[in-house]
Amino acid sequence: MKLILLGPPGAGKGTQAVELAKRRGIPQLSTGDMLRAAVKAGTEIGRKAEAVMKAGGLVSDEIVIGIIADRIAEPDCAGGFILDGFPRTLKQAAALDELLDTKGTILDAVIELKVDDEALLARIENRARETIAAGGTPRADDNAEALKTRLWAYYKETAPLIGYYFAQGKLKSINGMAPIADVARQIDALLEA
Ligand code: AMP
Repeated sequence: MKLILLGPPGAGKGTQAVELAKRRGIPQLSTGDMLRAAVKAGTEIGRKAEAVMKAGGLVSDEIVIGIIADRIAEPDCAGGFILDGFPRTLKQAAALDELLDTKGTILDAVIELKVDDEALLARIENRARETIAAGGTPRADDNAEALKTRLWAYYKETAPLIGYYFAQGKLKSINGMAPIADVARQIDALLEA
């Protein structure tokens, strides 16, 4: 099963993708996680991405398409995967279609998590608080200033994917405002439908 989780920052994509990946026994592929690992490791990609990520902007299509092309070529992705945070632009979506096409496969579904914009800042601030409470360091972009830029990037670059996948008959939208377990149940129900 090849799936995309789509939604604005703070919609709960990461939380749901991790749990869904466990339930289905397939990997969760988060470009955000991969980029944060590259920043931490100080690789060339990490050095190129760091400032853009901190400000809440989008890393270049070229970089993220390259990362995903390499990742989905790995053996653990042969049985499917859940994309979390990719694609984020129409160019990335077209590149993904092409990549899958060369492998003779297609996406099964795109799950859109719908949430109220007003809830997003509270969720992002809460995530930062929970990370600090657990003794960790919050994400450099989990603050009100960077969220503005991240939301702007979402509406400008990523929201058009909703129409793109609707036109392909792949889009399934669910209420992301429900409690985590309810959202998970909604996802399972629509994948079984
Ligand atoms: P995320 O963990 O998905 O919220 O991503 C954190 C940050 O990584 C984003 O705000 C972007 O700066 C960068 N990023 C992650 N995925 C992508 C992508 N598909 N295209 C461009 N930038 C990305």
